[in-house]
Amino acid sequence: NVESRLYQSNDKSPLQIFVRAKKKINDIYGEIEEYVHETTTFINALHTEAEIVDKAERELFESYVYKVAAIREVLQRDHMKVAFFGRTSNGKSSVINAMLREKILPSGIGHTTNCFCQVEGSNGGEAYLMTEGSEEKLNVVNIKQLANALCQEKLCESSLVRIFWPRERCSLLRDDVVFVDSPGVDVSANLDDWIDNHCLNADVFVLVLNAESTMTRAEKQFFHTVSQKLSKPNIFILNNRWDASANEPECQESVKSQHTERCIDFLTKELKVSNEKEAAERVFFVSARETLQARIEEAKGNPPHMGAIAEGFQIRYFEFQDFERKFEECISQSAVKTKFQQHSSRGKSVSGDMKSMLDNIFERITIFRNLKQDQKNLLTERIQGTETQMMQVTREMKMKIHNMVEEVEEKVSKALNE
Ligand code: GDP
Repeated sequence: NVESRLYQSNDKSPLQIFVRAKKKINDIYGEIEEYVHETTTFINALHTEAEIVDKAERELFESYVYKVAAIREVLQRDHMKVAFFGRTSNGKSSVINAMLREKILPSGIGHTTNCFCQVEGSNGGEAYLMTEGSEEKLNVVNIKQLANALCQEKLCESSLVRIFWPRERCSLLRDDVVFVDSPGVDVSANLDDWIDNHCLNADVFVLVLNAESTMTRAEKQFFHTVSQKLSKPNIFILNNRWDASANEPECQESVKSQHTERCIDFLTKELKVSNEKEAAERVFFVSARETLQARIEEAKGNPPHMGAIAEGFQIRYFEFQDFERKFEECISQSAVKTKFQQHSSRGKSVSGDMKSMLDNIFERITIFRNLKQDQKNLLTERIQGTETQMMQVTREMKMKIHNMVEEVEEKVSKALNE
């Protein structure tokens, strides 16, 4: 069934690198937390028994408890984030839906996403929406209708609507991938704000182009700004609507090589974010709409080609899967580095600091113990001295008494003789 198939593919997915690393670092931090708690209790006890640690030191130890707890909270929330950009109607929402294997985001004419939409996994099988600045969970049976309604509303273009979708419905959501759909780069003048608010923590960017036209200045400009703010962003380029090329098979190859060359030049020569070889692995020719249809058919138990739009379905379908594989490898490796490297070095420095503080306290305890021993030794010496003195005195006294007795005896016998 679909569930077990999802589960199997999930196990082999490169996303597991992130999932396992997250579990591992969370476990390690769990141990660090225990260690910090134990140490703090021990330190506080030391303070009451003998004033070996002072107030400042105790406060420092307690500050580690809070620090570690804060890091643990961030760690539990860490995820992999992918953001989609491109002109309106190039198919950004369709690509996300195809990856999610379900039509979650509204797409098509009249459903232009005019704000940022984030899709993330929810626990407990719940599906709901949250708009920016509100804690209210808008619970929905049919999320599509609600999302459609939201798109009609006049929301600020740089605001964020969060869509929570049951994790178990899609392996990418289950493995902590968060999708961000953006309004078209052609409709906004606030690209800078967008980047600051929604992109700085993205692990991967996907530029969705329309394969029927060439890359526009607005699309290029956006990524120029991104690569100025982030060092070497991970960018994938999808030439979408490739199904349309089936109508003109005679020029398909030449169009493809032209687009490929332009995309590679953009990544290597203009943005300078990757070398030729890497860039070649980041450019794909797909049909999001067709892939989504194929997956919906698959979920019904039908063969995927039932979703085909045009000739050449199998090649486009493989290309989409190839994109997903490379994307998964890239996002999990990047997220492990950006999210966990920092936490692991902070964890190391916290335990290092605590160790050197404990070493210091241990040294003080040793000195304290030696001092006590010295005092004890001194006392023992004194006692021993007194004992010898006493023995001396006793011996002298004995002699004296002996002499006295002898003297008395002598006197008595003398008196008797007289
Ligand atoms: P967005 O504005 O970039 O999010 O674009 P949408 O995903 O809403 O797509 C706009 C329209 O293009 C919709 O009617 C889609 O069904 C259609 N579309 C998207 N991807 C493809 C594709 O690969 N092939 C074809 N033929 N149509 C597509």
